[in-house]
Amino acid sequence: MTATRVLVLNSGSSSVKYQLLDMRDRSRLAVGLVERIGEQTSRLRHTCLASGDTREHTGPIADHDAALKAVAGELGRDGLGLDSPELAAIGHRVVHGGMFFTEPTVIDDEVLAEVERLIPVAPLHNPANLTGIRTARALRPDLPQVAVFDTAFHTTMPEQAARYAIDPKIADRHRIRRYGFHGTSHAYVSRETARLLGKDPAEVNVIVLHLGNGASASAVRRGRCVDTSMGLTPLEGLVMGTRSGDLDPAVIFHLARVGGMSMDEIDTLLNKRSGLFGLCGDNDMREIRRRIDEGDEEAALAFDIYIHRLKKYIGAYYAVLGTVDAVAFTAGVGENAAPVREAAIAGLEGLGLAVDPELNAVRADRARLVSPEGARVAVAVVPTDEELEIATQTYALVGKNN
Ligand code: AMP
Repeated sequence: MTATRVLVLNSGSSSVKYQLLDMRDRSRLAVGLVERIGEQTSRLRHTCLASGDTREHTGPIADHDAALKAVAGELGRDGLGLDSPELAAIGHRVVHGGMFFTEPTVIDDEVLAEVERLIPVAPLHNPANLTGIRTARALRPDLPQVAVFDTAFHTTMPEQAARYAIDPKIADRHRIRRYGFHGTSHAYVSRETARLLGKDPAEVNVIVLHLGNGASASAVRRGRCVDTSMGLTPLEGLVMGTRSGDLDPAVIFHLARVGGMSMDEIDTLLNKRSGLFGLCGDNDMREIRRRIDEGDEEAALAFDIYIHRLKKYIGAYYAVLGTVDAVAFTAGVGENAAPVREAAIAGLEGLGLAVDPELNAVRADRARLVSPEGARVAVAVVPTDEELEIATQTYALVGKNN
């Protein structure tokens, strides 16, 4: 029997998201989520796509090991167990691959050791990713496991975009440079945008705007990333749901020296209590739009700050690329919030950018153009699919051995 299934695992500090895909037709067989691992109120929600059944369990799940065993149990109940000969590999999302991992990589002890060495630059994400990998390896030691790195797509950035203007000796000693994140999404969306234009990715220049709760922009020249808005960590760049994005680094000195805040407090402030949430108390764009419609000025200002930053990045990446074939919106906000697309593109006619109000108002989950016919630069909405991209990259690496 040919093994054509790939299990995609995205392990966070207290959660595991998973999808089982069949790579013959890239269909989803099962999807699910374990949340609040380590608490009394852990929850597993599992859906089998063939039967349409969804099962939910609440109750304590002590750790990632128990979480993955519970997931394996649910998959087994649907005849999709981890012991199936049809399972070709497990693909893991790994947030930080540093400079070393430029491609998806079959996991061995060496790879694990390098991901571990990167923990100082990704203290929130890499430990959880590692736990997921170790647990999955223990369950199926014989199965190929592949790490797909969020940073990999950005490793093509030239030095002038990747380096901060600080002493390179200090930067190198501490591995400080701009790595970028959401790379799996930027890779997938830039390729799908080329496909939507009927072109080869190597023929087009695309600005990708990944606007979810986390948000990042990238400049993609002929299929290769040349700049991106996130940096050493996901804190840099656009205004996000709860992250500030760009700010004068001296704000941090000021908060410490004058505000008397500790480094941990500042970290929490900028990562978890800033952005849209910090500005107006809400990080969900639906809620912010509702409040604006009711005349809420705080929400309106938060929206304006968000759009202003986004516009600055569109302009900056236009300049970096020189010529642009398309601007692509993706992720929760980018795919769903027509007012964000309209406001971000408004006034950019001089750059050949415009949005057709009727096309922009259409709700759909397929890739589509929202720019007027014949526009010099296309504006596109392209749903991202990070799980499919991880599965595709994983299968490409191991599937050929089947
Ligand atoms: P993501 O991180 O890609 O899952 O995106 C999550 C965010 O997308 C949410 O916090 C919302 O701000 C936003 N979002 C989701 N659906 C909508 C919608 N229909 N309209 C506006 N924003 C949305």
